[in-house]
Amino acid sequence: MIGFNYVSHAQEVIFAPSALARLREGVERFGWGRLMLCASPSMREAGWISRIEVSFGEKLVALFDRVQPHVQDVQVQEALALAQETNTDAVIGIGGGSPIGMAKAIGFQLHLPIVAIPTTYAGSEMTPVYGITHTNENPPRKVTVNDPKITPRLVIYDPELTLDLPPSLTASTGINALAHCIEALYSKTRNPLSTAAAIMGVRHIHNSLFHSFQEGRNIDARAEMLLGAHLAGFSLASVSMGLHHGLCHVLGGTANVPHGIANGIVLPHAIHFNADVTAAQLIPAAEALGISSNGINSKGVIETMAQSIFELIGRMNLPQRLRDAGVAESELPRLAEIAFQNRTVQSNPKPIANVEQLERLLRDAW
Ligand code: NAD
Repeated sequence: MIGFNYVSHAQEVIFAPSALARLREGVERFGWGRLMLCASPSMREAGWISRIEVSFGEKLVALFDRVQPHVQDVQVQEALALAQETNTDAVIGIGGGSPIGMAKAIGFQLHLPIVAIPTTYAGSEMTPVYGITHTNENPPRKVTVNDPKITPRLVIYDPELTLDLPPSLTASTGINALAHCIEALYSKTRNPLSTAAAIMGVRHIHNSLFHSFQEGRNIDARAEMLLGAHLAGFSLASVSMGLHHGLCHVLGGTANVPHGIANGIVLPHAIHFNADVTAAQLIPAAEALGISSNGINSKGVIETMAQSIFELIGRMNLPQRLRDAGVAESELPRLAEIAFQNRTVQSNPKPIANVEQLERLLRDAW
């Protein structure tokens, strides 16, 4: 029987060439007058921060432009103090998932609206979630906070902001977007809209990811890839993720593996692990990736898809094994223990019965 339940999130999304020029008009429509900007250092080098400074003038009352990966609690405290001192009434995050996560952390804690301007394919701009890394725990641990109020109220997609995204980040954050589609398709809480968006997302990512990796300044490939990332983020927003994302959070928060790199390494293993339970849901993704199902059973098709994603990751020069991402073999049992306690890992469509299953998966990925 058909049955579903989901929460939709009211957002204004502007996706257009040169959309950054429409930021001020969008913000004014909402009536926000004292803005804070969160960014990573590369946004200054790229010139995007100065464009926003010029556009807003003295309405830009605070700038926190040194956001580090994985949104560390210490930095959040500093940025929160700045937002309070300057009486900010809306927080803009520009960059990848980290500065957008920082803007979400501040906005949520101070009850302020959030504006997101993504420059990678991580998809955080569409979701009601952020992750924060508790640095004083040993080992450090990344915890996610989930609330509809975290969803950015205004999202600006400007493909020009992605033209200089280096090939390695294009590849790794592009695989992150693909992983959102895959986990949305087999999510325990999937719904008709998340499924439709995820299938279209895989199609656009398939058409444009390798092209964007090879030819970064091709605006058409960049625009199609950003569209794929938007659809991936849209599907991610209304469903729970599973084993893949839970493991990536643990590898990021505890072993400091960059999020996109963890995604590339884990995705083929998570697909393989889940294949016997999720093949029916993943067949449309395999078709969108151009994998023929002629004469092979559905589990075989999904195994072929996992292998083709593994090969794509290799062709884009991303690490394919945890050992190549700086994870020591001796860390695997502890990572498996932490992952076993992880809420997202435990919301996997195929139940995770014991720590040994996770340790085996991590060893295969090592
Ligand atoms: P990131 O934000 O950590 O950025 C990685 C690097 O890319 C940084 O050095 C940054 O300066 C650089 N960069 C970003 N855009 C650039 C551009 N256009 N040109 C040149 N350099 C650029 O990485 P990410 O992979 O985008 O995001 C990962 C973080 O986001 C993780 O913390 C992850 O957990 C989180 N995330 C959250 C969600 C969510 O829904 N809340 C979704 C995906 C990822």
